[in-house]
Amino acid sequence: MDFSPTPLQQEVVAKAGAVAARFGDDYWYEIDKIERFPREFWDALAAESLLALPIAGEHGGAGLGILETVLAAEAVAARGCGMGGAIPFIVGPVFGGLIVERHGSAEQKQRFLPRLVEGGIWSGAFTEESSGANVTAIRTRAEPAGDGFLLHGEKKYIGVVEVADQMLVLARVAGFPRQRRTDGLSLFVVDLPAAGLTAERMEKMGTRYVDTNRVRLDGVRVEAIGLIGALGHGWDLMFDVLNAERLIVAAGAVGTGLLAIERAVAFANERRVWSEGEPIGSYQGLQFPLAKAKARLAAARLNVHQAAWLLDRGDPAAAIATTHARVNAIDAGLYAVDRGIQTLGSAGYLPETGLERLWRDLRVHRLAPLPDEMALAHIAQHDLGLPRSYGVDHGS
Ligand SMILES: Cc1cc2nc3c(=O)[nH]c(=O)nc-3n(C[C@H](O)[C@H](O)[C@H](O)COP(=O)(O)OP(=O)(O)OC[C@H]3O[C@@H](n4cnc5c(N)ncnc54)[C@H](O)[C@@H]3O)c2cc1C
Repeated sequence: MDFSPTPLQQEVVAKAGAVAARFGDDYWYEIDKIERFPREFWDALAAESLLALPIAGEHGGAGLGILETVLAAEAVAARGCGMGGAIPFIVGPVFGGLIVERHGSAEQKQRFLPRLVEGGIWSGAFTEESSGANVTAIRTRAEPAGDGFLLHGEKKYIGVVEVADQMLVLARVAGFPRQRRTDGLSLFVVDLPAAGLTAERMEKMGTRYVDTNRVRLDGVRVEAIGLIGALGHGWDLMFDVLNAERLIVAAGAVGTGLLAIERAVAFANERRVWSEGEPIGSYQGLQFPLAKAKARLAAARLNVHQAAWLLDRGDPAAAIATTHARVNAIDAGLYAVDRGIQTLGSAGYLPETGLERLWRDLRVHRLAPLPDEMALAHIAQHDLGLPRSYGVDHGS
């Protein structure tokens, strides 16, 4: 086993950290307040080719993998951005780059990858109100029409619709024979803006610089080139997307936790309130939780890196490793940020110290993209061998 990063991986981390260092708390505070997409940050990542890491060299990308993408996401989060810095590595490199690179036809690669290398943004539209975490029960349907399709349905909680070039939509192909609940699901690429597609922005607690929407699809036209993979067999492709997405979120959580601890330690070494003049960092009541947070993050970080390495190798063990990493990283990240806030005292509750933003932006990842309960159910069934605890399993 060799845990040492390659020179190329070190370069990716250094580049990502350098970009992040240019976007401080003031920047994130401002765009969070006015709820505006971090365009300058996005452009800076694109300029350093950091959004093209999983795209092959022949298409203008770096020809690297999810591991390098995860390392970059962790680095930007840890160097000051928190989850705001990590999310871009999903909406472009994964929803677009990874799916087209791994599952697109030669024609699709030619059509979509150049824009993604430049910094194209892809929205991922999977969730629906009626099905929630039970994604295979979605109702959005794709009706064959001429040499393409018409999409009809409604999606909820869909990100970056206002700024995206494309939307990757999960829909059920009308009339497709169905023996398993995943049969008939397909992934379609919609060019935005699209006739028949409307979006309504939703208010939310955190990551307010990324728009989240209710989306209606009223006969949205998709040309034949917009169908990714074989018709009706999109679910297997989803795993690449979902596992990579979860790992980037997990990497962002680790980076966010490390950032919170760094800030808490700096504060605790300075702040003095008692007559003996010692900094509050000398009290074990504050030290030990920070030490525990650091230890948890170190373990979660290894989980994330190993799962990404397995995913890049196409190892089936990647699925469970990703879920372990997802559970540990969000727990460790949130614990660290919470302890960071506690260490700063009431100052930690104020936007000016940056920690409350880190907490709000990270908290959502107990719910999305994979809720805690569904992650634990996955481990219970597929790692522990316990009976499936929910839903009707039609043989999938
Ligand atoms: C800010 C934000 C951004 C998002 N971005 C996107 C996006 O870009 N694209 C997209 O497609 N989706 C997105 N989502 C949606 C997100 O992935 C879903 O909200 C999530 O998958 C769960 O669906 P739900 O909220 O409807 O939960 P529900 O299915 O209603 O579940 C409610 C609660 O019950 C629990 N639960 C459900 N079933 C079980 C069970 N069998 N056992 C135990 N507990 C269970 C859940 O874990 C959850 O805690 C986003 C959500 C948020 C909040």
